[in-house]
Amino acid sequence: MKILKLCRTCDRIIGELELDDLTNDNADPIMEIVGNVAYAICPGCLQEMELEPRNVYH
Ligand SMILES: [Zn+2]
Repeated sequence: MKILKLCRTCDRIIGELELDDLTNDNADPIMEIVGNVAYAICPGCLQEMELEPRNVYH
């Protein structure tokens, strides 16, 4: 079963992953699974958050 990985900040599709992968070590610790969608932070937003910690959501 494939689930869609979305950025929770800008809603951009980061990619798809197999649900089986989530049990492995490559699961993203900041990722949140809702139904068949995994919400994470894309590299672009992650960089912005690190540059401006007070401005987490736009
Ligand atoms: Zn993003």
